[in-house]
Amino acid sequence: MPEGDTIHRVASNLRAALAGRRVTRFEVRGRGAARVERPARGATVDAVEARGKHLLVTIGGVVLHTHLGMHGSWHVYRTGERWRRPGTQARVVIDVEGGTTAVCFAAPVVETARAGAPVRAVDDLGPDLCAPDADVDAAMVRLATLDPRTEIGVALLDQRVAAGIGNVYKSEVCFVCGVDPNAPLSSLDEVTRRALFDTAARLLRTNLATARRQTYAGGLAVYGRRGRRCPRCGTTIRSRRQGEQARTTYWCPSCQPGDRRAHTTTAPATASTPAAASTDQGAPSAPADSTIVAATNAGSPTRTPRRA
Ligand SMILES: [Zn+2]
Repeated sequence: MPEGDTIHRVASNLRAALAGRRVTRFEVRGRGAARVERPARGATVDAVEARGKHLLVTIGGVVLHTHLGMHGSWHVYRTGERWRRPGTQARVVIDVEGGTTAVCFAAPVVETARAGAPVRAVDDLGPDLCAPDADVDAAMVRLATLDPRTEIGVALLDQRVAAGIGNVYKSEVCFVCGVDPNAPLSSLDEVTRRALFDTAARLLRTNLATARRQTYAGGLAVYGRRGRRCPRCGTTIRSRRQGEQARTTYWCPSCQPGDRRAHTTTAPATASTPAAASTDQGAPSAPADSTIVAATNAGSPTRTPRRA
């Protein structure tokens, strides 16, 4: 599933293609299409914004809200160019003057609202950790309202606490901070909680401009690496399905011990292992077959050159 960094990158590509241009076609297809608010005739695209994993396109007093879920993507084409996904999967088609077409494929959430009216899924979100001024203090307040028995791996995915963290960052952030993702909130002190969300914000922002996500020494440390060796200590990486949504969580049982004292002593050391600055030569790069590669590329409009 595209995470906050990917959606911010999609927003930036869509903004470059659409913002300030007059809309000549606005079409919503599939479920809910009949209830769609339509922009005024001749309206221009006023804004394209990412909020966590949600995308908002404002056109002439109407806000189009999409969430890409597991399989959705936005593509940008020259008008008339052959699409790279089947037309039957298209949920939104927007043509703008100048010969550009933006198509949203297979998004599970496509809805519209009058500008200024509430968009519930977005209004409930916690602070967007991809934003340069992300309010981590506000996330801490929201975190404190959860049931203290909630496992931290589940809390990190709760977009009402903070927006932008998905399944990959959940596992990677816990690894970088040396925290067992299965630990209940009640076992984590303030410093550790803060370190987790500060780390998530830092890693998300580090990856805003990269096509290949890196969280640790040139790749990913634990995500998608069940049964392989921990890049830091060599212990076999474990995984389990976690939470009501049974999202797979990966961790190193040695670097992330399920022990409260470890959580209160290792967290402050996170600043010493930034992904980009690490010089650990022994760490492997992200697995080429991991879902993150597909998720990252799936979110990129076609005109964006892929990087190796
Ligand atoms: Zn380890």
